[in-house]
Amino acid sequence: MDGFRYISYAQEVIFTPGALAQLREAVERSGWQRLMLCTNHSMQVQGYVDTVKSALGGRLVAVFDHVQPHVQDVQVDGALALALENQMDAVIGMGGGSPIGMAKAVAYAMDTTMPMRPSIPVIAIPTTYAGSEMTAVYGITRSREKPPRKVTVNDPKIAPRLILYDPELTLDLPPQMTASTGVNALAHCIEALYSITRHPASTAAAIRGVGHISNALLRCYRDGKDLEARTEMLIGAHLAGWSLASVKMGLHHGLCHVLGGTANVPHGIANSIILPHAIRFNADATAPQLLPAAEAMRISLNGTHPWVAMETLVQKISELVGEMQLPQRLRDAGVKVSDLPDLAQLGFQNRTVQNNPKPITESAQIEALLRAAW
Ligand code: NAD
Repeated sequence: MDGFRYISYAQEVIFTPGALAQLREAVERSGWQRLMLCTNHSMQVQGYVDTVKSALGGRLVAVFDHVQPHVQDVQVDGALALALENQMDAVIGMGGGSPIGMAKAVAYAMDTTMPMRPSIPVIAIPTTYAGSEMTAVYGITRSREKPPRKVTVNDPKIAPRLILYDPELTLDLPPQMTASTGVNALAHCIEALYSITRHPASTAAAIRGVGHISNALLRCYRDGKDLEARTEMLIGAHLAGWSLASVKMGLHHGLCHVLGGTANVPHGIANSIILPHAIRFNADATAPQLLPAAEAMRISLNGTHPWVAMETLVQKISELVGEMQLPQRLRDAGVKVSDLPDLAQLGFQNRTVQNNPKPITESAQIEALLRAAW
């Protein structure tokens, strides 16, 4: 038997339709007195910022409500200044992966600024399927570099301590965001299954995650108000986020970071374009690990050679992406063909790419993948 090692975090997870109503009680129980909320405009428009304000009353001392995608370093400076000015002792990220990433970035910056005080707890209220709420990582875009570059920061202290999963908050998630962040969740499960640090618990979570996502994603896309499908999809996203948090990702996630940070492709769209190509690239090294994912997507294996099953899996995911009208080529996401060599070079240097289960020895391999995806 192979040994294994993984880190898990002390996190309270509350999952139920209407969970947002439990925020006040959970905050009081934890003794947090001065909270800051990081979020963005859509949460304001949908009234969820007001809900948090009335739940927390005077305990909510600051709101940073204009988080941009991909956590921009210049924005972190502004959010940190607000946090320091208001002496906050806990930070909430509400929305997709970007506001949750911003909350982690602020907590991390506070810890760095004042290393002698207790670390700042992060509370996450996810409204997409991106999975950041479960992890101790955030990506930050260094916008002052030429070209801008997204790097990841990893620290157990920033793993959210309290996570409120409220499927009702996802009822208004637009179809394209539903689809693209749902594929992002699927990608967490796929890369967890073949991760170089996979272990029995991450594998179990990832297989169940694929099953729930495969059952629910298209239903959520077709009818965003279907609470039952939204609930099942959020369970899938939770399991995907859990597996993402406990193992190292590979080529797919590394490339999506490069495409997001440098070519400004929205994260979920980058996932939708790259996932079939990453599975195909890795197939000869990882097919046995991905067979349970194929089964969870109701692909009949029936003695099929694992490589053939991988091609069927690729086709099935491509069909799902196509049915949800997501871009399937990099050219449709604004990437210029002349940018591919530089993007491949950045991909080759990316730490996550270097953790890919199939070793990547030269940037030409990545360039070939990007050209196929273009
Ligand atoms: P996002 O947070 O950038 O949000 C995209 C858009 O969706 C925004 O315009 C937002 O207003 C809108 N939106 C979100 N929830 C909504 C809702 N319920 N109703 C209506 N509109 C809504 O997108 P994302 O894909 O969730 O997150 C991507 C970011 O998260 C990237 O920066 C990515 O790197 C990061 N991420 C990090 C991790 C991690 O483990 N740290 C995991 C996944 C993604």
